[in-house]
Order: sequence, then structure tokens, then C-alpha cells
Amino acid sequence: FEIRSETPLALEQRYSAHNYDPLPVVLTRGKGAFLWDDADRRYIDMMSAYSAASHGHGHPRILAALEAQASQLAVPSRAYFNDKLGPFLAALCKRTGLDEALPMNTGAEAVETAIKAARRWGYYVKGIPHNKAEIIVADGNFHGRTTTIVGFSSEPDYRDGFGPFAPGFVSVPFGDLLAMKRAITPRTAAILIEPIQGEGGIIVPPQGYLAGLRQLCDEHRVLLILDEVQSGLGRAGDWFAFQHEGVMPDGIVLGKALGGGMLPVSAFVARREVMAVFTPGSHGSTFGGNPLAAAVGFEALRVIEEEGLVERSRMLGEHMFDRLRAIRNPALRAVRGRGLWAGVEIDPRQASARDVCLRMLDKGVLSKDTHGTVVRLAPPLVIRKYDLDIALDIFAEALNEAVP
Ligand code: PMP
Repeated sequence: FEIRSETPLALEQRYSAHNYDPLPVVLTRGKGAFLWDDADRRYIDMMSAYSAASHGHGHPRILAALEAQASQLAVPSRAYFNDKLGPFLAALCKRTGLDEALPMNTGAEAVETAIKAARRWGYYVKGIPHNKAEIIVADGNFHGRTTTIVGFSSEPDYRDGFGPFAPGFVSVPFGDLLAMKRAITPRTAAILIEPIQGEGGIIVPPQGYLAGLRQLCDEHRVLLILDEVQSGLGRAGDWFAFQHEGVMPDGIVLGKALGGGMLPVSAFVARREVMAVFTPGSHGSTFGGNPLAAAVGFEALRVIEEEGLVERSRMLGEHMFDRLRAIRNPALRAVRGRGLWAGVEIDPRQASARDVCLRMLDKGVLSKDTHGTVVRLAPPLVIRKYDLDIALDIFAEALNEAVP
């Protein structure tokens, strides 16, 4: 087939399903906190691929692990043991303080794994009637795109026309402990929640919320399952966002940065009693836990540890929030987040977040709007302070131009 006469952008527009609305830039390579386009123009990445590129692009150690493992063995399947999976899962358990891990590929798959575990735990352990276990989630959640998961989303765009949806989910306002308490019934198996809502607009719950959830879960014998796909692995200034309130969940979901910016790698990590519901044949994935993913995931964890990326996130994050809170602009409604993870809410009557992002793009900074009203500022955790400052200058400039 002859495709040389058309540009990659034209081809993508013509042949891709239109389930995305990308900013008008064609990226060709990346290194650290920088990305380059097809005209070799350099951009500062303030997006980190929704946190999947927290280690920066093409991290040399992760790239080396990928290359070394790819030439050894990539996908032998889990019909056999492999020499990379054990060390990776052990590192995950030691890091989280949980007992066992079940590897998957994408975030949504690991969330599905958590849902299955919670429901079966409800039946096997708590004695909830067969196939009747309920899970409580929060309004504004984002846990992925499978039909089960969008079935309990509160965002019409994610759901419309994709039903019928699975029953067994109840949604309550995020951050509201009283609403959560009222929603718990004898059939509740788990609360599934993001410790900080990402796609919902970087929403930080009131201090004490997670501790309050932990207490409710203990009182009513309900599992606390935290989706740390976006908030975890340093993004929010701690290894995991749950540490901020010193709570211990019964299970957590990880993804995105677990793949070191190279591969889809996810996992559900939980207490032994929860994971014990899975027996051979009850769950799996052809690619989940393959040695290529495990080698990369293991190195991704080691790099966070050995390069002090959590501390960087916390310290640079404080600097970023100081600077964002000092911006004076009538359209700036709120600055939310923690670590190197900010959502800046812009008054839609005065400017669109997309317009601000387009202006930033023009000036060499990549970000992305969320729901048209929030500009996300979430650089790779390896970003230098110097480059972060340039990106923040440009953000302020773009905002001031959009709303003088
Ligand atoms: N959970 C959270 C909190 C997420 O932010 C996302 C992705 N934005 C997912 C799950 C789904 O991950 P994936 O796109 O890899 O399926």
C-alpha cells in the first residue's frame, strides 16, 4: 500500500477512530522531561502521559532493562514460572506493605481485578448472598473504560449508549464521609476510590477523609480499595497517596508509571485474605506478568527509590504550588493537587482551558485540558527545577494572554 504521500497527521485523522481530540502537534521523540515534534521543535512535558511517564521519557536505566530483557525472553505466558516476575511482585508487596500481587497490563484491567476480588471476598468471606455483593464508588470517579467500569461513572460522555451496565455499584459524593456511611449496607463488600481524583479534575478530598473511610470499613467489615493508578508511585509527593493520612488499605490498584513510561504494566496488590479468593483458572491475562513487563516494572520501582523521585515530587511540588498560588488572574478559580500534580481550574466564562493549552503549545509547553475547565500541570518527576520554572512562566503567560 502507498501511504508516503500523506502526512502522519493526515493519516491519523483519516484512519483513526475519533475517540480522541489531540492537540495539533505530531510528536516524534522524547528524553527526560522533553518531547520533540516532527519539525524538531522541543517542548517541556507538563503532562507525563497522564502520569505514565513519571520517570521521564526514555529513562536510560529503564530502557536498558527493556532492551536486555527483550533480547532474553518477552512473553512466555503464565503457563510457566519466569525468572523476572517473582522479584517484581516481591518489590511491589514490600513497597506497599501488602501481601500478594496480581499483575495485569492496563489500569482498567487491574481495577476489574480488584472488583472481582472484592465481590468474591464478599461472598466467600463476608457471607454476602451469591453474586449480590455491592461496591461503593465516588461521584466524579475515573477507573477506566471497560463496560463494567463506565457503568458506575458519573460522566455522561463515558457512559452514554454503552449500557446495559453491571449492577452492584453505588455512587456517593467524593469527600463526604456521612454519605459514605449512609450508603453502606450488609451487602457492601468494598469501597473503591481514588485517594485524589485525577480525571475528575485533580480533586483532593478533605484531610481525614481516607482515615475516616478506613474507620468505616473497619466498623462495617468492608474492604478499602484505593485506585492509585494515577496518584501512586510518587506523583502526589508520597510513594502512595494513602500514606499522606497514614492509612493502610486492603488493596490498591497500580498502573501507568509502573511501566516506567515504556510499557503497559499494572497490578492489583492486596492483603492475603483478599487475594486468596483467586484460585487457578479464576482470573488471568495472556500478557500480564510477562518477564518483559516485570523487568521494566522492577526497574521502574528501583529508579523511583534510588533517584529519590518521591522526594523530588514533594519538594518541586511545593515550589510549583507556591508559584501557581501566586498567579493573579481573574479567570483562575482554584489550584488543586499535591506533589507534582496540579489542576488549575479556569472560569469557563472567561477562557477555555483548551485555549490556554493551545497557547502553551505555541510557546513550547505540553499540557492538556480536563473537562474543558482544568489545566493539568504534571511534569515527569525527573524534571529540573529550571525547566519547571520555564514551564510555569509560560503557563502564567498563556493564561494572562487568554484572559488579560
Ligand atoms: N484508574 C485511574 C485513577 C486512572 O487515572 C486511569 C487512567 N486515566 C485508569 C484507572 C485506567 O487506566 P488505563 O487507561 O491504563 O486502563
